[in-house]
Amino acid sequence: MSTSSDCIFCKIISGAIPSRKIFEDGQVFAFHDISPVANVHFLVVPKIHIQSLNHLKPEHEAVMGRMLRVGSAIAQDLGLGESGYRTVINTNADAGQTVFHIHLHVIGGRPMGWPPFGK
Ligand code: 5GP
Ligand code: ZN
Repeated sequence: MSTSSDCIFCKIISGAIPSRKIFEDGQVFAFHDISPVANVHFLVVPKIHIQSLNHLKPEHEAVMGRMLRVGSAIAQDLGLGESGYRTVINTNADAGQTVFHIHLHVIGGRPMGWPPFGK
């Protein structure tokens, strides 16, 4: 299925739910996270509905590559190229995935710890 009627990110892509859009092309959509964890925190999603990394198929390789390239280009446009930024895709409960439409988090503008475990 290319879109899911009960998916919040499909609704953001279609415009049914408003977002602070940064960029879109035929394959991907990028927008600011509603609850940022740093000065810069945006998401890059595929326009087709893919639930998680566990659902990737060979035909998704191009869009996954596009997500990384767009995330990197936006991060550099926002001035993070030199200072740095983190790219994260959470999968399922242990990683804290809450929206089941793949999304690349791009986070920057503050130092971050590693490894990234919470309390
Ligand atoms: P996850 O925990 O699944 O890796 O990340 C989901 C992210 O989506 C969270 O950082 C959350 O703040 C963000 N998010 C959830 N709902 C919305 C929304 O309606 N609009 C925007 N812009 N971000 C959202
Ligand atoms: Zn979706």
